[in-house]
Amino acid sequence: MLNRRQFFPAAAAGAAMLARGAKAFAAEKYDLIIKGGRVVDPSVRLDAVRDVAISGGRIAAVEPSIADMATDTLDAHGKLVVPGLLDIHTHCGRFPTGPGLVLQDGVTGWVDAGSKGADAIGETIAIARTSPQPGRVLINIGRAGILPEGDTMDLSRADVAAAKDAISKNLDFVVGVKARLSRDVAGENDYEVLRRAQEVATSFNLPVMIHMGQTISPLGKLVDLLKKGDIVTHLFAPPPNSIIDDSGRIIPEVLAARRRGVWFDVGNGQTGHMRWDTIATIMKDGFWPDTFSTDWNLNAHETGVIDMPNCMSKFFNYGMTVSEAIRRGTCNAARIFSFLSDRGTLNVGAPADVAVLELRKGNFEFLDNFKGKITGHQRFFPSATVLAGKRVPRAS
Ligand SMILES: [Zn+2]
Repeated sequence: MLNRRQFFPAAAAGAAMLARGAKAFAAEKYDLIIKGGRVVDPSVRLDAVRDVAISGGRIAAVEPSIADMATDTLDAHGKLVVPGLLDIHTHCGRFPTGPGLVLQDGVTGWVDAGSKGADAIGETIAIARTSPQPGRVLINIGRAGILPEGDTMDLSRADVAAAKDAISKNLDFVVGVKARLSRDVAGENDYEVLRRAQEVATSFNLPVMIHMGQTISPLGKLVDLLKKGDIVTHLFAPPPNSIIDDSGRIIPEVLAARRRGVWFDVGNGQTGHMRWDTIATIMKDGFWPDTFSTDWNLNAHETGVIDMPNCMSKFFNYGMTVSEAIRRGTCNAARIFSFLSDRGTLNVGAPADVAVLELRKGNFEFLDNFKGKITGHQRFFPSATVLAGKRVPRAS
């Protein structure tokens, strides 16, 4: 997806900057070197001990050993050094402190998935605008956004004109349309709500993200409305209307959707979205998620979500390797939203967004959304985040 040619202008600019910097500070060639970590960068199929040098906010070199001087050095021996994590289903836009908190967890790019609709989209956009890392929003097709009584139980809230108007005024921050379709959110309106969301999205060439699971309409009928580039979140939601049928096989409409380029995302969340037995069956079928996401809220650390690295660790028990897990939290997400297209990689010339993680071994308890527990034997923990080449200070 990202090749040398795409990065060449940026790399050349970086080299020019280096040349100028070198005159003034002959001893310090780089701004930061991350030393001695296990670099796992699936975008370039790299999994090896490397030093990573950063200059001018961009990756300047990834080599077995970099002896040059740097203004700052981060010791990563015994740790994983991976591209900054990208979380495509959060509710960061609900909380002014949200972006800074997930940044501590290694998340250097986020999407708020439909916290607000046309009536108050300015609130989530205001947070995205001041976010230290890139953040964008999906507009809820329900004009009042997430409502305790259900976003679109009243079908008149799925207001096509209002959504189109809101998007046209905020094209720089709205990157898609969210349709939450569960029976307690949309009731019997699920199909019509999705049809309207798609009408809005296609007129701006944007993706739709559906929140699947426990719908009234059969999932196959809903998924048939999705186009290439759309996203299904909560793919591990248990029946009714799971992606598997009663005999545990992936339903044909879901297989067809993946073939035509619809993405399938985890959306960990807290209620109704994942249950270990459903996960086990789907993973065994070989239908693995394209992306991880947390469905993050302010209380994440008090729930089974905890943080993005924890959500990514839940799939080791189902056969996922470290590299396969990192891929789903980095470069795969970068392919879905264009504002992230130069992220999710440590390729030379890319923005220097880096997550340093610890991969601890031991016994770790992981939770689904139904109080189910499994024990895993390794877990990613956030250790340090580098954003645009600068170390993010850690709150204690
Ligand atoms: Zn959500």
